[in-house]
Amino acid sequence: HLEEKVNIKSNDEFKEVAEAFNMMITKLEEVDNQRKDFVANVSHELRTPLTSIKILSESLINQDTFDKDIYKEFLIDIDSEVDRLNNIITDLLTLVNLDKEKLILDNKVTYINYLLEKIVSRMEPIAKQKNIELKLILNEKIQIKIDEGRMQQAIINIIDNAIKYTQPEGIIEVELYKKEKHAIIKILDNGVGIPEDKLPYIFERFYRVDKARSRNTGGTGLGLSIAWEIITSHGGTIDVDSQVGVGSIFYIKLPLEK
Ligand code: ADP
Repeated sequence: HLEEKVNIKSNDEFKEVAEAFNMMITKLEEVDNQRKDFVANVSHELRTPLTSIKILSESLINQDTFDKDIYKEFLIDIDSEVDRLNNIITDLLTLVNLDKEKLILDNKVTYINYLLEKIVSRMEPIAKQKNIELKLILNEKIQIKIDEGRMQQAIINIIDNAIKYTQPEGIIEVELYKKEKHAIIKILDNGVGIPEDKLPYIFERFYRVDKARSRNTGGTGLGLSIAWEIITSHGGTIDVDSQVGVGSIFYIKLPLEK
């Protein structure tokens, strides 16, 4: 009885409404499937460290010996799995809040130069631990309107990846410049690189090119999706160029303050 309900006058109109209706249902199904996938991914990600903790604690319970070194070794492993759970939950909460708070960013006109100086000096000790050189190249002073706390997190996530996926003695460059009506923050590393066929997926939640490597470096697979949410909610974009064995370049493009 669709014709009567929406007061349809012709066959063509009926076809149009039916098509629109079908498209809406398809979209709803898509959203529902994405939500289901997300819940399944979250459950899997949380279950992995939990299973490890369970195995480790059961082995400790079933130990016949009271060897202090064995206990310590197992407890250190349990401790790092707890850290991992904590990281996943922190990142998930950040994502949930970003979804909710999209429209209430605390935007202020900010000199991005100073923000980058602050971030780089904060990340330098982490890079140094791996003997990686972290360079900052500032060409000119640039003002943009951003939520400083959020943008800081996005940039940190990308520099943190550059450090994680670059071998010791590597080089990372963070550069700021203007291009047309945008400020560009370029983050270059000479690390492991990303295969071309994997590039379209790296901003997806929980996607990792190499699960084992990401796990060993404490990655949750959420860092880039958090960065993507923050940057796009500022009207910006994030792009990447990468070559396996050569390195990666991430470009954050943000609209300039008028
Ligand atoms: P993770 O917590 O695993 O680092 P991200 O969402 O931050 O998750 O990144 C997704 C994946 O993209 C990573 O697992 C890694 O495979 C790849 N990746 C991100 N940044 C880099 C980089 N600078 N060099 C090489 N691979 C990277």
